Amino acid sequence: MEMEREQIEFDVLIVGGGPAGLAAAVRSMQIAREKGRTIEVALIDKGGEVGAHALSGAVVAPRAFEELLPDYRERGFPIEATVRGDLFGFMTKTRFYRVPMVPRHMHNKGFPIVSLSKVTRWMAGLAEEMEVNVFPGFTGKEVLYAEDGNRIVGVRTGDKGIDPEGKPKPNFEPGIDLMAKVVIFAEGARGSLAKEIDRRLNLSADRMPQVYETGIKEVIQLPEGHFFTRSAANDIHTLGYPLDLHTPGGGFIYEMGKNRVAVGFLVGLCYENPLLDPYDVFIRFKRHPFVSDLIRGGKVLEQGARTVSTGGYYTIPRLYADGALFAGAAAGFHNSPALKGVHAAVKSGMLAAETAFEALEKEDATAKTLSAYADRFEASWLKAELYEGRNFAQALAKKAPVKFIHLGAQYVTAGRGVVDPMATKEDARTLVPVAKASGKTVEPVDPSVYDGTLVVDKLTGVYLSRTIHREDQPSHLIVHDRELCVNRCWPEYQSPCTRFCPGKVYEMETDDVSGRRRLKLNPSNCLHCKTCDVKDPFDNITWTCPEGGEGPGYTLL
Ligand code: SF4
Repeated sequence: MEMEREQIEFDVLIVGGGPAGLAAAVRSMQIAREKGRTIEVALIDKGGEVGAHALSGAVVAPRAFEELLPDYRERGFPIEATVRGDLFGFMTKTRFYRVPMVPRHMHNKGFPIVSLSKVTRWMAGLAEEMEVNVFPGFTGKEVLYAEDGNRIVGVRTGDKGIDPEGKPKPNFEPGIDLMAKVVIFAEGARGSLAKEIDRRLNLSADRMPQVYETGIKEVIQLPEGHFFTRSAANDIHTLGYPLDLHTPGGGFIYEMGKNRVAVGFLVGLCYENPLLDPYDVFIRFKRHPFVSDLIRGGKVLEQGARTVSTGGYYTIPRLYADGALFAGAAAGFHNSPALKGVHAAVKSGMLAAETAFEALEKEDATAKTLSAYADRFEASWLKAELYEGRNFAQALAKKAPVKFIHLGAQYVTAGRGVVDPMATKEDARTLVPVAKASGKTVEPVDPSVYDGTLVVDKLTGVYLSRTIHREDQPSHLIVHDRELCVNRCWPEYQSPCTRFCPGKVYEMETDDVSGRRRLKLNPSNCLHCKTCDVKDPFDNITWTCPEGGEGPGYTLL
């Protein structure tokens, strides 16, 4: 919509209030103070408050926080529990087999177990104390380019008060043009602006395609005297059931404070069977005898879902453009063998901030100057860590038993393995038609298992995520061709969006009179997990930001 818009100028603009964006904000102000310079830094976040959209496991490797804030513990870093011991096991349908040797990347003893939602709220408080302009409730809707069409000069925030036809309502508020010398994009995995820039500027031209896992997580209140009060291990990871050996993924169970536990399951989005439903996988995991024993008598307090970018080193795009840097999960910083991304996000945010400040000092934010960010990453411990896991996601995506040969070879060769580099394949290209998937039908979970307390269905999960969207606005989920949904996607794949979406946003309806099928959307249920943007086999769904301040309202995840 063309109109006069307010413009505000900053030195550094950060898009995304996750660990990468907040670390960039804090580090920017630290360096400015060290150098005796005043700079204007702004951070926007699409959640109603910072932390509302933050979800992670999360056992955190503390190294990056120790570098960013050596006294982070004294300053109130919110810790739920400390890892006393690791337990790693393989599950069949009815049994749990403890693996005697926990892989070295998963040695977490002494590490803090946290709620990322709480950690990011704490970081936002520190950033505000340092006079960062933190603006929750503002979406980055559009990237602003200079007249040459390539240099990024800012971000336009989303308009508010638009009706479903796209017309302004009486309460209409136009978005603001936030201009900056350097913009740091830290929107999290599958960031919508980072995706658009990547395509326009070809940032991933010579890289492997990024790949993802979708994680569904709950925080459960347990009764007094629960399992963890008598267990040496409070950091549990599982492989196997409910997934077959060919599909990557696994479960986690972490002790939290106040007699609570975090339970989650990740499914690799390279899965092949279009009938698979990651939510059903999560429910089957919770109902496995080993897990159900741990959570017996519990009550789900909060539930959420999010994709994780797991492709690793070879999938990291070019990290800079004229006027812009890319940090955190939006740029693929994730240590997949260790199942950890928070420390990688924090470190990448710090390195981005250091590079942005150098550009301000030189009064030169060209890609040439900002390429120092990639050099900093290459020289850092983070590169060494991610490089060791450079072929891990690729090996996991192989079928058994080949995957175990690759994983074993990588384990003893510091990541090189049998083939280096191994290729990834886009997750949207891996489904096989239902006709070819016959014989491995995935039965839906029997609805009678839902008790509304410890085992909840998708819609109750949406309620427990505190997700809200105003109904009378344009759909933020763009289905480009609805005929394709009916004429190709249904016959070939039986509409996998109706299963892979954990928010029950997509439903295939049949008209009583004409018998015609029709895709129905419930965008107000959307958990902003981005699975549909990644996994749709025809790239027919694009996730865009709804009005700022909407979406999940996580407090414990
Ligand atoms: Fe996730 Fe897409 Fe469903 Fe929203 S609509 S919950 S982003 S899969």
